[in-house]
Amino acid sequence: MVEMGFSRPSKHSGLFAPGSLPLAMNGRAFLDRGFKKTDYYKNQIKEDERMRTKLFGLLVLLGIFLLGSAGFVMADSPFQGSYKGTFKGNFGGNWKCTVDANGRISDFSIDLAPEARGRGVIDREGNLKVTLSFHGGAMTAVWTANVTKDLIVKNGKTDRGGTFEGRGMRNPASAKSEPSIKVILLGTGTAIPNPQRACASTLIVAGDKRFLIDTGRGFLNNMVKAGIRDVSAVLFTHYHSDHIGEFGELMVLRGLFGAKEPLKVIGPKGAKKVVSAMLEAYSLDNAYRKAHHKDKWYDASEQVRIQEFQSGVVYDDGDIKIRMFEVDHSPAKPAVGYRIDYLGKSVVVSGDTKKVPQMTEMAKGCDILVHEALNLQLVNMSEARLRDHPRLLAMTKEMVEYHTTTMEVAEIARDAGVRNLVLTHLVPSIPVNSKAEQMFIRGMSDIYKGPILVGRDGMVIDTNS
Ligand SMILES: [Zn+2]
Ligand SMILES: [Zn+2]
Repeated sequence: MVEMGFSRPSKHSGLFAPGSLPLAMNGRAFLDRGFKKTDYYKNQIKEDERMRTKLFGLLVLLGIFLLGSAGFVMADSPFQGSYKGTFKGNFGGNWKCTVDANGRISDFSIDLAPEARGRGVIDREGNLKVTLSFHGGAMTAVWTANVTKDLIVKNGKTDRGGTFEGRGMRNPASAKSEPSIKVILLGTGTAIPNPQRACASTLIVAGDKRFLIDTGRGFLNNMVKAGIRDVSAVLFTHYHSDHIGEFGELMVLRGLFGAKEPLKVIGPKGAKKVVSAMLEAYSLDNAYRKAHHKDKWYDASEQVRIQEFQSGVVYDDGDIKIRMFEVDHSPAKPAVGYRIDYLGKSVVVSGDTKKVPQMTEMAKGCDILVHEALNLQLVNMSEARLRDHPRLLAMTKEMVEYHTTTMEVAEIARDAGVRNLVLTHLVPSIPVNSKAEQMFIRGMSDIYKGPILVGRDGMVIDTNS
């Protein structure tokens, strides 16, 4: 259990999510090892198992009910869309925000306080609650209101005193008149477990197409939370475990939802080897489900069409063009990034890489650059705590060699003139709070003057907002 040593620096530094690795064995393991199995204890185990069977049965029933009644659409907020509007009252001004399929808002802003960022939620009854953060999170204000269709706001109050009311308008962007690309972060973490962040996965929505870049452990829950059940294609950047881990589960999900077409898979060399091996690992599962559900389980749902490329255009349907380009994540070779262009909008996703000139080239003038990032100071802090663990210390140092530091990412964004910078694959895997995020990006704004967003799972970024 030497690996558990990873958790010690994270625990003490306070910069990692609590409980990011199992620190203690569970109660049963403790009993199994530490106590003699008396009759009393054996009976307890049987009782436990009976309860567990009952509970499992209930969960299955609940799952079937949800499948039947909700058709698996867990997220369909009536308020979903992009909005712009005005407030009057003690707090006035122009505001804008995007409401996702779950009614969540991650980007509320108001021109009265341009540095303030708001996040919150509108429930199905129209109760709005937004927490605005000022001065990098040092100050917050909670705004609550009732909203009706098109975000007509009534009874607005803030916890710092004051009222507001106003009216919003659905942004033309959400009415399909202006094309946009939406980036949904489904996993912003790394291979080291962090309960607040799934492993690498980014969804790109362009028109009616959805491109899933990497399928790291934990992404699937975030994808379903975003109201998405299937994708047009999967694109791999490279074959480290934190980028491929949950691919098999995506295939099972396709089976459950009744996908009728084989899944398109695009990647650098290695895609055929990795994907075929994963399908092989799931072949018994597939056979059980086929035997159980018969022709309700479509064969195509667990089939793939794999295309391997070196670089260049990997997808082009006339409107959407995707280009693959080589990066440097050696010894993980080949490793690539992607540029997606759709009717004048563009997004670049870096994949894992150290700083390479082609990133600046490919990201030239793009609307959104989603780049991996390593904060050197925070990594050095964890190194200081690893003095007594030479193996882990050496491994941490090695990690720096094939990632891009936050300062280097800022240089790329500046040199490429990108409009918005979004950081993902955060090393170290910081907890989700604005204090840690501010520390993570410290110094970057001196180099890159545009907006910098520290990625969080579930975040939606639109080229038009
Ligand atoms: Zn990697
Ligand atoms: Zn990675």
